[in-house]
Amino acid sequence: MRWVVGNWKMHTTPSEAAALARQLREVLAPLVVAHPEVRVVVCPPFTSLEAVRHVLLGSPIAWGAQNCHEEVQGAYTGEVSARMLHELGCTVVLVGHSERRRYAGEDDGRIARKLRRVLEFGMMPVLCVGETLAERRAGYTEAVLERQLRCSLAGLPEGAWNRLLIAYEPVWAIGTGVAAEPEQIAGAHAFVSGVLRDLGAPAAVPILYGGSVNAENVRRILAQPTVWGVLVGTASLDVAQFCDIVRAAWEVPCC
Ligand code: PEP
Repeated sequence: MRWVVGNWKMHTTPSEAAALARQLREVLAPLVVAHPEVRVVVCPPFTSLEAVRHVLLGSPIAWGAQNCHEEVQGAYTGEVSARMLHELGCTVVLVGHSERRRYAGEDDGRIARKLRRVLEFGMMPVLCVGETLAERRAGYTEAVLERQLRCSLAGLPEGAWNRLLIAYEPVWAIGTGVAAEPEQIAGAHAFVSGVLRDLGAPAAVPILYGGSVNAENVRRILAQPTVWGVLVGTASLDVAQFCDIVRAAWEVPCC
């Protein structure tokens, strides 16, 4: 199984999102139907979810959300809950994206609660982990990954392990145009797999890579045997590039 998840971030109004989803459906739907081993998901802003749902319903392209609140409902002005996203047909929810950690001050404890809430509503969390450039240069990459993984995943019920995805997203590669080198990705993924095993993950949990993935570099990245797929930001807004990335997901053999 391979995964291609598009993160549209704070781009697209509802009508723009519907137009983008329509183009993706036109080009990708027949191809994705022919390649059920590849899962394609797009994550528009909350305000565009209903419009995207309307366009993609009945197609093999799924949709998800970029975040959710850790509580089910209540006096949390401006927040959106997993319960609301579930009713909108979301199948995945990103949790712990570095832009949420950085700009919204989300810490590991809060991310752990969000992740459990997403699972509770039958959706798949995509737990994003990754080090900053300063942390990598100081030799703390593994320590950071281990802390993020342990804090979010320790004590997870056994049945939850096959309902989540991990995305290794080095912060220095996100939105910079400089993707991590395949060897750096392989090293981080091997480390993440080891921590997951240590935490009790019963089988291989899919680990994606994210950070400046585009149509040019995706094949090199997917050629790494540890990479189960990609989380794509900027390039997911470009129909031609995103379709190329999806094509690569079945053209590059899984190891
Ligand atoms: C992301 O938003 O998770 C991401 C990887 O962004 P970009 O592809 O633009 O680096």
